[in-house]
Amino acid sequence: MKTLNSLLSATGTTIFTVMSALATEHKAVNLGQGFPDGDGPADVVEAAAAALKDGRNQYPPMYGVPELRQAVAAHNKRFYGLAVDGMKQVVITSGATEAITACLMALIDPGDEVVLIEPLYDTYLPVVRMLGGVPKLVRLEPPDWALPRAELEAAFGPRTKLIMLNTPMNPCAKVFSAEELGLIASLCRKWDSYAICDEVYEHLVFGGRPHIPLMTLPGMENRCARIGSAGKTFSLTGWKVGYITASPAMADVIAKAHQNLTFTTAPNLQRAVAYGLGKDDAYFASLARDLEAKRDRLAAGLAEVGFGVLRTDGTYFITTDFRPLGFNGPDDEFCKRLTAEAGVAAIPVSAFYEPRAGMETPRHFARFAFCKSDALLDEAIARLKRHFPGRGRG
Ligand code: PMP
Ligand code: GLN
Repeated sequence: MKTLNSLLSATGTTIFTVMSALATEHKAVNLGQGFPDGDGPADVVEAAAAALKDGRNQYPPMYGVPELRQAVAAHNKRFYGLAVDGMKQVVITSGATEAITACLMALIDPGDEVVLIEPLYDTYLPVVRMLGGVPKLVRLEPPDWALPRAELEAAFGPRTKLIMLNTPMNPCAKVFSAEELGLIASLCRKWDSYAICDEVYEHLVFGGRPHIPLMTLPGMENRCARIGSAGKTFSLTGWKVGYITASPAMADVIAKAHQNLTFTTAPNLQRAVAYGLGKDDAYFASLARDLEAKRDRLAAGLAEVGFGVLRTDGTYFITTDFRPLGFNGPDDEFCKRLTAEAGVAAIPVSAFYEPRAGMETPRHFARFAFCKSDALLDEAIARLKRHFPGRGRG
């Protein structure tokens, strides 16, 4: 028989599914895949339940229900001073995952170059390749994840269609500085390029630092597609409601991609997310504050176990160096053994890198999610302390 699509056939199952399955098999505490272990805000869930029962269960408008498009526009204005027309500049998708693919579809013609920053969220590279884009990878490395300016500048050129930017960044928890964003914006302007801005962790920035959308920088308003996710902003990852803000011209073509992918997203969930985005500032502040306390709890525990704990400025994740524990093998083996033998699942950070000839992929780092109840975080630390007795605490 003829072969199936070669790119998809060669794509492995995502590391998140692999590690969650292993966690279930070994009854491990799952600090791998990033999802909260509780439910999101009760009033947002109630809003969805009510919206199921009032007779609006047929196809919603393709761009998204008007309430949510207006709520996304108002959210952009409230938090970032961005004035956008909710009816022309917002497209609702089935999660940020669809939003990323829809934006890439809307921008890439075969042969276009796409600047991507490693470590990479897992869907970026396969989708760019499926669309015939030519990836230009720029690598950030632990422990400081500094942006290599000269390499970034060299990655841009006349054929650069876009840069994919994720800030706050999964898995390394880097929050790009105003100065780094300024450099990226200047390269986009210089080379007439777009930016797809994956900002799903926009409300999970710690230390009182602001989240700065690239879209707010001079000359960037019509070059950026800014992506948010109700999954992250309301701790309801299963809902899969994403929202894109872009210029009317971009939004129009992004909507064509959405039309061919899913066409619409569950109307009831959209309406509940519209309600949620209207919650007062205290909700958004407490989301970041609660997660920051969880970061500190897990970071302290991991340090006591003996891990080297890297800085976490945002997201759900802490990256650790496991070499101080005396394990010098590769990270996938470490994470598998940790899951099976210590009963705690984590994600190997090398999964976010594309292996390249002549370049060492970071192999000694594991990512732990802290978007969990304190009891679960404490249980994970207790298990790790039992597994690595005495290490790092002498
Ligand atoms: N982008 C990043 C950086 C993510 O970590 C995730 C996963 N939460 C997504 C996109 C996908 O978001 P969603 O669940 O809304 O599809
Ligand atoms: N964003 C989540 C993470 O990084 C996982 C999302 C998924 O499983 N596709 O852990």
